[in-house]
Amino acid sequence: MPRGFLTFVLLVVVLAVFGVALWRNAAPTAPILAVLPTEAIPTQDVETVSQLLRQGFVNSTPLPTVAIPANPLPTLVLPESITVTPVSAAELVSSGAGLALPVFTPTLPQPTLPPGTPGAVITVQSVTSAPDDWSPPPLIPPISRDPLGRDHYWLMRPVDSNANNAVLSYYPYGSDGPDASNPLRVHHGIDMPNAIGEPVRAAGDGIVTWSADGRQAEAAIFQNSPSYGNVIVIKHDFSYNGIPIYTLYAHLSASFVQPGQRVTGGQVIGQVGNTGRVSGPHVHFEVRAGIDPASNDDHRYGSTFNPVLWMVPYVGTGVIAGVVKDRDGNLVMDAPITIRSRATGTNERTTTSYVFLDNGYDVNPDPQWQENFAVPDVPVGRYDVIASIYDERVIAQVTVFEGLTTFIEMKPPEAVNPATSATPGGG
Ligand SMILES: [Zn+2]
Repeated sequence: MPRGFLTFVLLVVVLAVFGVALWRNAAPTAPILAVLPTEAIPTQDVETVSQLLRQGFVNSTPLPTVAIPANPLPTLVLPESITVTPVSAAELVSSGAGLALPVFTPTLPQPTLPPGTPGAVITVQSVTSAPDDWSPPPLIPPISRDPLGRDHYWLMRPVDSNANNAVLSYYPYGSDGPDASNPLRVHHGIDMPNAIGEPVRAAGDGIVTWSADGRQAEAAIFQNSPSYGNVIVIKHDFSYNGIPIYTLYAHLSASFVQPGQRVTGGQVIGQVGNTGRVSGPHVHFEVRAGIDPASNDDHRYGSTFNPVLWMVPYVGTGVIAGVVKDRDGNLVMDAPITIRSRATGTNERTTTSYVFLDNGYDVNPDPQWQENFAVPDVPVGRYDVIASIYDERVIAQVTVFEGLTTFIEMKPPEAVNPATSATPGGG
């Protein structure tokens, strides 16, 4: 074939291939569909997946199985020099060689008496029965949630919640007891009945100023001293408007502290007992204010305040305090007061207003509140406070908030003057 013809054929082929390639690239591509957001929720149908699994992978090729080697893995042989022989813990301790574990021997704190103080015999007794009464957890002191800063819930409860740290209701602070015909000594503290041996704790940080039988002190400190039995007094690190605050724990079976000893809030200082004048084992708890910070003799029987306005309430509870007066504005003593829940209609608490004997050793209204009654640990909510003022019933509505004092003044309404209230024109 002539050379020119071959070149022509080659040229035609090259052009044809080029043309085809050009045509393919110039051909319009398939139209791109707009991608719209699907409104369908991605499938969460478990059944769909399980159906796929049930169908199996019909056309798939099974994966090759890997044969497990029949020969066991080689074991390393430990040299004899590091062979370990297990030794029991008992052998370790008894052998005495090498490792020796410290032996923990629990010891009970031993009671102490101030040196040279005769009379009081304080012995350790264990709790005689398991607690049969459980209290809610108290709030954590110190707190003062009142927007005006009036509250001073600075003290812990002296007994744990898994014993009884509730206040005996029928002999509250300032009361002369439940029997009007046979009045008791006006109460200068609050009582928490407990089994003998129940731990008693310091209500706050401070220094022990007394730890012995109350009979060893001069009468001004523990008036009618035999009543107190074994008693501890703590002078706290804080004061109220510069006046030192003391707490007192009486009728103890044991004391673990000595005068001059520093204690921290919550520290076990003694045990519940029935020493002194008691009808049963309990701790009698007082809050006192120093009457003379400069002197050494600055807490007295007549300088107590109601502990329920100083000791933290339980979680979810507050305190109702108030003053009960007659129509002329005079304080009414020993007036029965009932706290009735507006939610349930049931009587939540009862108390009586303070009794003042004017004998120089009276109980005192709180320096802030000037109350003559206070009811602790009232669950938050709305209440009717019902006071019997001589032959009249006075009702007030209050709301209790957690950790707060709700204060109410109870007084009969002013006498209606017939001259001004006469309806004109009648008849
Ligand atoms: Zn008491």
